[in-house]
Amino acid sequence: MKGLLGDYHKLLSSFLDAGYEYSFFNNNIDQFGKIILRHDIDFSLENANRISFVEDSLGIKSTYFILLRSDFYNILSKSNFEIIRSLQKRGHKIGIHFDSSLYPDTNLVDGLNFEIDFFDHLFNEPVEIIAPHRPDKIFLENTISLGDISHTYEKKFFKDIKYISDSTGRFRFEKPHEFILSGENQSLQLNLHPIWYSTTSGSSPIEIVEHFLQVSNENLEKSMEQNFTDYSKTK
Ligand SMILES: [Zn+2]
Repeated sequence: MKGLLGDYHKLLSSFLDAGYEYSFFNNNIDQFGKIILRHDIDFSLENANRISFVEDSLGIKSTYFILLRSDFYNILSKSNFEIIRSLQKRGHKIGIHFDSSLYPDTNLVDGLNFEIDFFDHLFNEPVEIIAPHRPDKIFLENTISLGDISHTYEKKFFKDIKYISDSTGRFRFEKPHEFILSGENQSLQLNLHPIWYSTTSGSSPIEIVEHFLQVSNENLEKSMEQNFTDYSKTK
């Protein structure tokens, strides 16, 4: 599968070829040779599902973090709910992509507990770690305590091991293949966003996003036709 940031299969297998072992956040992470593959699902579960099959073909398991209160997708829609269950059944882990901006600072932990109860009830998967969406200082500087819950910017996942992310559709700080070539073999957290690997319709992040919006609008229109007969007659 190809996308803006290249061939996804090739990217994942380059770490296998370099001797890396894919791991989860709750495993003990050695200083060398482990890679925690993380996905923040900001826009589309369908994109996440597509890349998950590439991982399956390589025997790789990763962790998918899902927004529970997104304006872009509904986790309870039939197709999305099935995708999440399917990720679980195929051995991937799922977790909460936590949007702290939804909760005033004083109620942040209450908001998180509300989402954890909801998530656990829906997916029967205990929450051990969350991935903050658009993380603010309290996460990046680790000035908040979430009790028993970990987050992906804790020192052991963010400072003690390498952190590589494609969050703006670019590898802004270090590119995975350059890191592998360096031969450091340091363990790392690789944070990849499914949208950048799911389409070649566009050669820049903005074009990819525009394409995504166009497809989303077409899907919305189909749903409107199915749910509002008068509208469907105009088509
Ligand atoms: Zn996010």
